[in-house]
Amino acid sequence: MTLNIIKAMNKAQTLLDEAGIEASQLEAGMLMAHLLGCERTHLYLDRDKVLSSQETEDYFNMVDKRKQGMPIHYIIGYREFMGLKFYVNENVLIPRPDTEVLVEYVINHCKNSGVHFLKILDIGTGSGAIAVSLAKYIENCHVTAIDIDDKALAVAKKNGIDHGVADRIEFIQGNLFYPLMDKKDNLKFHIMVSNPPYIPTADIKKLETQVKDYEPIKALDGGREGLDFYRTLAKDAPKFLYDGGLWAVEVGYNQAKQVAHILSEQGCYYDIEFIKDLSGYDRVVSARTKGVERC
Ligand code: GLN
Repeated sequence: MTLNIIKAMNKAQTLLDEAGIEASQLEAGMLMAHLLGCERTHLYLDRDKVLSSQETEDYFNMVDKRKQGMPIHYIIGYREFMGLKFYVNENVLIPRPDTEVLVEYVINHCKNSGVHFLKILDIGTGSGAIAVSLAKYIENCHVTAIDIDDKALAVAKKNGIDHGVADRIEFIQGNLFYPLMDKKDNLKFHIMVSNPPYIPTADIKKLETQVKDYEPIKALDGGREGLDFYRTLAKDAPKFLYDGGLWAVEVGYNQAKQVAHILSEQGCYYDIEFIKDLSGYDRVVSARTKGVERC
C-alpha cells in the first residue's frame, strides 16, 4: 500500500476519530511532522509526496500507540512550554500550560526584585520545565533543581543542556529538601518553586487513560487529600529561604484555600496570594517567608 502524505494523514485522522481522540486532525499532522522531521506547516507543501513503505509502517505504528492512549507528547518526544521545546519521556510528567502561570509569576517577581543575583530552588523538577525556563528567561539567576527520581533528573539535565543553561542549574537527586540538609554551608535561596504531586490518591483512577496509565503516578499522587507535599514544603522551606524569600507553588484547581490555610497555620508566612490560570482557577499560591529565626 502506497500513500501520499495527505492521504496518510486523512486516514490517520479517521482512525484517531474512531478512537475518540478530539484533536485528531492536529495530532495526525503532529505525528507526520515527527515522522518526516519537519514543521507541521511544511506538510501541506509536500502533500503529494508518496511515503515509502517503511515510513508508512512507522507512521501507522505511531497512530496505533496514540489510539491505545499513549500521550502524543511521549510519542513525538517533546512538549512545548514557555515557547521552548522540552524533551519528555514516560519518566516525567508532560509539562502543562497551567504551570506557565507559575513560571511567568516568578519571572515577573524577579524582574521587580531589585536583587542582583537570584538563587532559586525547584523542588520536584521532573522534566525541568520550570527550572530550565527560569534559567532561560532570568539571566541573573542560579537554579538548584531537585528530584527524587534519577531517570526524571536525566531528562531535566538533557533539557538544561539543550537550552544552553545547564551551567546555571545544579541538578540534585534526592527527596524534597533532604539533599540540602546534608550540605554543611548555610544554604539559602531567594525563591522556592514547586509543582508537586497534588492529585488526591482516590482521584487518580478517575483521571483520563492517557494520564493515569502513562504518566508517572509518583509525580501525580499527593496523598489522601492531595496536600501532603504542600505540608512539607510549607514546613521545611523557611530553613532554606532568606527572610522575605518567595514561596510559590502550583496547586490543584480547588486547593488554593487549603494551601493558604497550611501556610497560615505554619506561622512563617505573610502576603499570601493566589494567581489565576486561564480558566479562572486559583492555580498558584505564593507567599513571603519570615525567615526561620522569626517564625
Ligand atoms: N496538572 C496535573 C494533572 O491534572 C497534575 C500535576 C501535579 O500533580 N502536579 O494531571
